[in-house]
Amino acid sequence: MSDSPQGSWHGVVGHLDVVSRFEAMLAGGRMASTFLLVGPSGIGKRTFAIQLAKALLCKHSPDGRLKACGRCPDCLQVDSLSHTDLQVISKPADKAFIPLELLIGDKEHRMRAGLCYDLSLRPRDGGRKIAIIDDADYLNKEGANALLKTLEEPPPRSVLMLLGTSEQRQLPTIRSRCQIIRMSRLHETSIADLLVRHQLCDSPELAAKIAGLSAGSMQQAILLLGEGVLEFRRDLLAKLSTLPLETLGVAKMVSQFVEAAGKESPAKRARMKQVLEMAQQLYRGFLYAATTGTEPAIEERDHELTSAVQKLYRTLGPQPELAADLVDLAIDAETHIDGNVNLTGLAEWWTGSTSGLTTKLARGQATRR
Ligand SMILES: [Zn+2]
Repeated sequence: MSDSPQGSWHGVVGHLDVVSRFEAMLAGGRMASTFLLVGPSGIGKRTFAIQLAKALLCKHSPDGRLKACGRCPDCLQVDSLSHTDLQVISKPADKAFIPLELLIGDKEHRMRAGLCYDLSLRPRDGGRKIAIIDDADYLNKEGANALLKTLEEPPPRSVLMLLGTSEQRQLPTIRSRCQIIRMSRLHETSIADLLVRHQLCDSPELAAKIAGLSAGSMQQAILLLGEGVLEFRRDLLAKLSTLPLETLGVAKMVSQFVEAAGKESPAKRARMKQVLEMAQQLYRGFLYAATTGTEPAIEERDHELTSAVQKLYRTLGPQPELAADLVDLAIDAETHIDGNVNLTGLAEWWTGSTSGLTTKLARGQATRR
């Protein structure tokens, strides 16, 4: 990740490359109707999409440019999400998927309500109709099928934006019918700057430290600021890199951390995700070292992570296939979080399976020696 400042557009930090891409389409009269914006969580996809909608709906934006005036009724209504030509839907916190009624109306109003219906109405004053589906990762087959007609024959002057974390997580029927726009992680300096500017963090030193650990995600950065999170990360990385893995101890530590998020299930799930992201960072580092066959160096900016990666590599050596399995396992566990699983059970399953894999790796390394 480079440390150069990223600049901003309409208060959105970074993603200027994506703005230019949309402006080029607009100027060339080649604006597509359906987009899939993909990038890691917490990089500002939703904010970006809403600002894009604002620039498309503002009548004062110069031709071929995406520059909303920010003061006209259209702009103000987009800001308050009350514009009749803009619909934004996302997965309700208590649902595992985006419910069908948000797309095509409930049973009594099938095809007469919901996002697809709204998009088919005439925009006011000859403008555009814009719809944003946040959390497109959570479209199930039923939902994707409901969207199919809109994707295949988009209503005139409509723009549909689906936001997801990766192309792989979208169903092929969706992926193949959208123009894919990839959005990058944020630069560390941008994250540090945002943390201070939004008064999430008083100390610029701490902001820089957190930014360095955030993997370019503002969401990760905010989570890392939580009470006791940095300490937990340090202990988790130390434990995961000490083999043989103390399976029950790690599972218990993870469960306690998750429970400490409070009573609300979404907060607990976010913490479980955070744990698995931390593990993925560790195992990706190890995988990189195992693939290239070079011992990783310890870096001061993230001593906890880099020393854990080095320790794992010293113990397990270059076994890239099994290292990749460790990464996959953590990703796999993460995909189960939203399926209403019991989080303690998930923590136990993940640590147990990880332990099994590292034992295999240790055996493999012993044979090599
Ligand atoms: Zn305006």
